[in-house]
Parts: sequence; C-alpha cells; structure tokens
Amino acid sequence: MKKIYIPHVLQFSQKTQTIILDNFITELVTLTPFRGVMMIRHGGTFLEISIEGETIINLICDRCLQQYNYRLNLKTFENIWLNKSSNSNQKFIQEKELIVEDFSETLSSEGYFDPKVWMYEQLSLSVPLRKLCSNDCQIPVSIDKKSSISINNYWKGLENFKKKLPK
Ligand SMILES: [Zn+2]
Repeated sequence: MKKIYIPHVLQFSQKTQTIILDNFITELVTLTPFRGVMMIRHGGTFLEISIEGETIINLICDRCLQQYNYRLNLKTFENIWLNKSSNSNQKFIQEKELIVEDFSETLSSEGYFDPKVWMYEQLSLSVPLRKLCSNDCQIPVSIDKKSSISINNYWKGLENFKKKLPK
C-alpha cells in the first residue's frame, strides 16, 4: 500500500479515493489477509477516512496461555485535519487550535497520508484488551504448584526411606 499524496485525492470523483484491501498485516499475526475497503475523502480542510473489513488474527489467551484465532471485524472512521499554512498570524493559529481539538491528528494539506500505518492503528485499537479463548478455559498448573508437588514427593520418599530403616 503506497502513501497517498493528499492533493491527488481531489482528482478522484466526489473527491474520494477508494482502496480495495486484500493484504496480510505483518505487524499483527493475521492468518487471513485483511479483506475490506478503505475510503479517503478530501473535505477541503480535512480528510475523512473510513474503513470496513475483517481478518482473523492469532492471539494468546490471558488465562490459559493457549493460542487461539480471533475474527476481527473493523468498521470505523476518522477525520484528519489538514494544516494549510505554517506562517499564519497568531490570531489564525488560535482559532485553528480550537478546531484542531476535535481532530485527533493533523497532516499537512500538501503532505502524504499513509494508509498502511493508519489501518494498522485502527486494527490495533480493535484487538480486545482482555483476550480469552473461551469462557470455560482453565488456568494452567503453575510452576509453583509443580514444585510443591515435587517437594511432597521428596517428603514421601523420605518417609518411605524411614520405614525401611531398621527399628
Ligand atoms: Zn483460554
């Protein structure tokens, strides 16, 4: 996925560039390519980016530590403010800052938009915080329990040894 030169988006019909997605995301362990569509609309002073699609990723369960597959459905959008001029007067900057607060990100209107990075960010935000493979999976026997079992075996062995000692 190539970076998009932002002024180029204006040349598309309805000032909207559509990207059909069928890509493996190397940063996430995706088992199937992410299939979907991304739309980038040039709104003059901002970019409106929306994405819809799905993939299957491999996660590790927080409870049983087993790997499992998770179907990740993504449907979201974001507006990115386009920063027009860098040498504007102070009053303009103050007005602009008020508007910028509604936008989480800004880009230069003469700059580039990286759809790959943006898509990865949106996917990362969609990965569940609490990863559970199922509701009834079990916590594995911990190393502490295992070592306590071996200590018990040691004491049992010692008792058996004592029994064998001549009285
Ligand atoms: Zn589990």
